[in-house]
Amino acid sequence: MARCRLCRSERERTPAEIYLPAHRLPLCRKHFLSWFERYLERTIRTFRMFTRRERILVAVSGGKDSLTLWQALVNLGYEADGLFVYLGIEENSFSLLSRRAVEAMAERLGRPLHVVDMKSELGFTIPDLRRKTRKYCSMCGTVKRHYLNSLAKRLGYSVIVTGHNLDDEASSLLGNLLNWNLKYLSRKYPVLPAERGFVRKAKPLCRHYERDIRLYAELRRLPYLAESCPLSEEAIRPFYAELMDRLEERAPGTKLRFYLDYLRKALPLFAEHKEEFMERDLVVCERCGEPAVGSPCLVCRLREEFGGAGT
Ligand code: SF4
Ligand code: ZN
Ligand code: ZN
Repeated sequence: MARCRLCRSERERTPAEIYLPAHRLPLCRKHFLSWFERYLERTIRTFRMFTRRERILVAVSGGKDSLTLWQALVNLGYEADGLFVYLGIEENSFSLLSRRAVEAMAERLGRPLHVVDMKSELGFTIPDLRRKTRKYCSMCGTVKRHYLNSLAKRLGYSVIVTGHNLDDEASSLLGNLLNWNLKYLSRKYPVLPAERGFVRKAKPLCRHYERDIRLYAELRRLPYLAESCPLSEEAIRPFYAELMDRLEERAPGTKLRFYLDYLRKALPLFAEHKEEFMERDLVVCERCGEPAVGSPCLVCRLREEFGGAGT
């Protein structure tokens, strides 16, 4: 059996229980955990995402990716707090269980958790939206981004981080390429600077495979919720993810190469023209002051329609 590559001396070398095919790396459990965190640190530095002097707001959903990110950042000594948006999804008690997971995580880390309750802020929940429109998933994303950005500004966080992993990034890159979606392609970088009313955003897990994140979450016994949202629209994205999985199976490391080579070789060409690819200029919403494609912004319009009280 292969031995762990990181165990110090030959005598100590423990049999590897874990093999990372894309990195051709056999590891024991202990060294997998330290490798995982060091690799995260290298991603943060390579892309100059943030430093230990900055306050970081982690968008937590209760799933394995965001809780893993929160845990690993705190282990690495970053000042990272959580933000959870309670969406009011009662199917399978999804929102309730997600909330319990993030609260358990905050307690375990001893870090603050900010909770935004969609119903009391806006006067409606995701199931309410679903009864009115088929596009509730994209609206759900807009609502979450709205609160992340406005709260980060109000509470003085310098950067917002999300748990997007390599599998997410590679499959969305494939989808955007197949559709020549130049607007997204020109901005597909794992850190976006603070500009035009947006707080800096980063995806520190962009080089980590989903499978490795799941393993980290299990080995660290994180209190994550394994079920995904029961209202997921299951559109075309899972198909691209499946295609990428098949390529990865044939040639381990494909996702990593595809994504990193894009960033290195193709993105600079697209990024030169990113302003031309924008369909509309951003404006500032006259009601909430957030950047948006129109004023009032979608969130303010929905709030008015449903009669919510928050700002
Ligand atoms: Fe919101 Fe759709 Fe994600 Fe569920 S699947 S949390 S409704 S964006
Ligand atoms: Zn080892
Ligand atoms: Zn607004």
